[in-house]
Amino acid sequence: MMPWALALLIAVVAVALVLRARRRERALRAPFPPEWRALLAARVPLWRRLPTAERERVEYTARRFLRRVAFVGCGGLELTDEMRLIVAAQAAMLAAHRDPGAYDGLYAVLIYPDEFVVEERDEDEYGLVTEGRRALSGQTVDVARILLSWADIEAGLAGDDGYNVVLHEFAHHLDHTLDGALTDGGAVAPGAARWHDVLQAEYDALCDAVDRDEDTLIDPYGTEDLAEFFATATEVFFERATAFRAAHPRLHAELCRFYGVDPADWVDGGP
Ligand SMILES: [Zn+2]
Repeated sequence: MMPWALALLIAVVAVALVLRARRRERALRAPFPPEWRALLAARVPLWRRLPTAERERVEYTARRFLRRVAFVGCGGLELTDEMRLIVAAQAAMLAAHRDPGAYDGLYAVLIYPDEFVVEERDEDEYGLVTEGRRALSGQTVDVARILLSWADIEAGLAGDDGYNVVLHEFAHHLDHTLDGALTDGGAVAPGAARWHDVLQAEYDALCDAVDRDEDTLIDPYGTEDLAEFFATATEVFFERATAFRAAHPRLHAELCRFYGVDPADWVDGGP
């Protein structure tokens, strides 16, 4: 090929790629179709509370999620667009401010009809191995896969009760994408020392409260370890925002900084 022809070909391809990228970006930024918004308003209590500007960010992040992440129905579950949308919209609420591309590395969301059973093998510090089976409502396997139970996703839509398996598992995902730095003492951002101090102090306080058999706003499952604490606290931070801000002001402030939003300011802030 003549040099000028090669240069022309490269220029044409480059222009085509730029145009395609712009088209994609325009499509991602387009508002949700009214039927998607109606569906989310009917099914997802958190969606109803989103301020308009926040909703636009969440829609962009959710569209990006739907474009990139594969959904797989497992155990005979027939997936619907409604299921995909409900998962993507809630996952997007965690990432819309932090990083709309936070889920770009996620390969697939696998959804089972109900709780699913996983084989587990644990080895303690003395080399003692325990093997068993456990029924789970959700599991973040690694940075590439998240497993969810549809029955539990639906239970999470029942109201603002602080239980939401989608928020829980995607909070784990964000932690995993940072190599666990959020919950293992690693550097997450400026202010990391304060973040870890607050997380540890609040975790210890939850453990003490559970030991004393007190009722707690954060699910006692959060006492498992700091990673579970972060995920369970995230559920309450979004779903029971006003109560969370009142009961855990320091942790609330840290999560506001991390997620870039204060759900207690959304409409009525929830219960
Ligand atoms: Zn968990």
